[in-house]
Amino acid sequence: MSNTTTNLFYLVTIICFILALRDLSKPAKARRGNWIGAFGMAVAIVVTLLHKDMHIGWRIPVGAAIGAALGAVGARRVKMTAMPQMVALFNGVGGGAAALVSLAEFHNLTPLPGHLHGDVSVSIALSALIGSVSFAGSMIAFAKLQELIGGRPITYPGQQFGNLILAAAIIAAGVAITVGAEQQWIVVALIVGALIFGVLFVLPIGGADMPVVISLLNAFTGLAASATGFELDSNVLIVSGAIVGASGTLLTLMMGKAMNRSIGNVLFGAFGSVQASGGAAAVEGTVRSVTAEDVSIMLSYASKVVVVPGYGLAVAQAQHAVRELADELEKKGVDVEYAIHPVAGRMPGHMNVLLAEANVPYPALKEMDEINPEFPQTDVVLVIGANDVVNPAARSDPGSPIYGMPILNVDQAHQVVVMKRSMATGFAGIDNPLFVDPKTAMLFGDAKDSVLKLVTGVKAL
Ligand code: NDP
Repeated sequence: MSNTTTNLFYLVTIICFILALRDLSKPAKARRGNWIGAFGMAVAIVVTLLHKDMHIGWRIPVGAAIGAALGAVGARRVKMTAMPQMVALFNGVGGGAAALVSLAEFHNLTPLPGHLHGDVSVSIALSALIGSVSFAGSMIAFAKLQELIGGRPITYPGQQFGNLILAAAIIAAGVAITVGAEQQWIVVALIVGALIFGVLFVLPIGGADMPVVISLLNAFTGLAASATGFELDSNVLIVSGAIVGASGTLLTLMMGKAMNRSIGNVLFGAFGSVQASGGAAAVEGTVRSVTAEDVSIMLSYASKVVVVPGYGLAVAQAQHAVRELADELEKKGVDVEYAIHPVAGRMPGHMNVLLAEANVPYPALKEMDEINPEFPQTDVVLVIGANDVVNPAARSDPGSPIYGMPILNVDQAHQVVVMKRSMATGFAGIDNPLFVDPKTAMLFGDAKDSVLKLVTGVKAL
């Protein structure tokens, strides 16, 4: 296939990626968006393989078969709650691939003195650097989220100074490559340095900041892929890498905004270590425990109920039971809505995906800014497996590590029922004064069991 035909087909891929992104931003069309993106990617792969300069050999089919099999099995088996780790892993291998391509390109071009042109050497340095940081950082993020290593920030004296020196050394190696140094050890040193930097960069980040970091690393991988596109003279790689870089950057900024944290603070603030130094006020008070029968009565006589889903709902897989409960309540004339916090669960959009699976109608899902003014007029809020996203300490306790993070103001409703198994903390590892608020009742137990008991209770009334 000629260059012109190839580029025409690449244009199809690029259009598919843009349409896919547009659909992925709306829950109702996300599934279609996924298919369009996958189709665009299939076109790019086939067209690349058919290019006139391509020598397919045996390595490409074998590599593709192994990768496709691992990807398909991994994606089918992964639990919804382990999705962020999966994203970190997939993202990391993308960054690693970009770094390896730049190593190979450098290796191919340097034996021919004068062939390493300025634009290519800049691209090699950038994709080796960014791709390696993204690979190593994503692997640490994976290990933290998979609990292979502690999720808390790991800090030590002189950390930021050490990182600064290392960053300066890596940048120096990058500059040496761009000004024409053709020794391979420099690019190898750059990759090793960037790998170490990636590890050191993510180790001090922890707690609720992990999703922001994963999104940032995702943007890095996009940029590394885009730089690789310049090395390989591949338009589709340049554009799609830039799309990933831009969308990852936007998501990072939006998540930072949702948590009211600047990106600088996320990266260098060592979230969660404040707690260890005892910054947050101790939570004291009496916990009021209730039975499912009590809550069923409360719900049946309410006129407006808001459900706040959280990570525990995903763990318990209670989404279908919740839908059943909402149906029963609606039969009794109760108005039921769902309050979606942008970082509820363990991945962006986690709650939307879960509730969509149970066919909860999209108009019933309300975003934080939309639902917060409605809590004072809400009779009962059912907090199902959520904790950090409803913690009023974020509003009132300047010593709390989540101080300033916008939350769902459920404590402003007439009554609050919190459904969880114990008094254990959530992801951020901090106590929640909501649980001892006089208007809060705790319904202890697995979220799915409790919701099913409520369904039976409401039906019986
Ligand atoms: P949290 O992690 O704050 O709390 C979840 C609660 O669910 C726990 O306190 C736990 O209490 C309870 N729970 C666990 N299993 C069950 C079960 N089977 N039945 C009932 N309850 C259960 O969740 P939130 O959704 O409120 O907040 C999300 C947190 O995760 C935030 O800190 C966010 O920043 C962070 N995060 C978000 C990501 C995202 O992109 N959305 C990604 C990574 C982290 P108990 O053990 O007592 O049952």
